[in-house]
Amino acid sequence: MTPGEQLAATDAYLQRVAARVVAVDVGEAPLVVLDRTVFYPGGGGQPADRGLILRTADGRSWTVRTARKADGEIVHELEPDDDGPPAVGDMVEVDLDWARRLTLMRTHTALHALCGVVWRDYGAHVTGGNMEPGTARMDFEFERMSGDLVAEIEATVNTELAAQRDVRVNVLPRAEAFAIPDLIRTKVNLLPEGIEEIRTIEIVGLDLQADGGTHVANTREVGAIRVTGYESKGRINKRIRIALA
Ligand SMILES: [Zn+2]
Repeated sequence: MTPGEQLAATDAYLQRVAARVVAVDVGEAPLVVLDRTVFYPGGGGQPADRGLILRTADGRSWTVRTARKADGEIVHELEPDDDGPPAVGDMVEVDLDWARRLTLMRTHTALHALCGVVWRDYGAHVTGGNMEPGTARMDFEFERMSGDLVAEIEATVNTELAAQRDVRVNVLPRAEAFAIPDLIRTKVNLLPEGIEEIRTIEIVGLDLQADGGTHVANTREVGAIRVTGYESKGRINKRIRIALA
């Protein structure tokens, strides 16, 4: 069976799409696979989407409370209800909780701007990150971080966001991606052998990373950020917390 189309990978702004149910696992929380979806299944610190599945024939709808990737497919996990899940072959519309997703796209893009500034201006590597809609944290190998520095970082990130930089998605052959020196800092070399194509996200002129998430198309859509805290996770590892302003 051909895997379902994963539309969020190439168009983060698609909010809904018509689809066909191709697999259903009736359990405590029913799991549904579609022939195409706009859902992001989570990963790289970005939580999975939420939303609805609406059946075309009778207008019945199901809440999708989360999604994940399993065996290469995006699996939608439904809120259990008494009438059971849709059936294989049903035509449906899959519809994102768009306000939440757009906030995640803005938050995620803000993290790239932070990462780009900290790398460019201080040479610090990222070691991890996580986000919720509107708030995020990122960990760096950044021994000399201080309160003064994070205030400076906040101001620089906001200048970069206000510069209206385009954010581009590219899919590159593995060898070509490995030839980009900057990608190594995001540990592209840890990607499994079998992956032949690498998706990259570029904030033009600021940041380039191998990445699977969803982002806005221009930094002006992020607005501004605030650094809400920073903490030491050891002598070298430091954490910076941000929020959308
Ligand atoms: Zn990203």
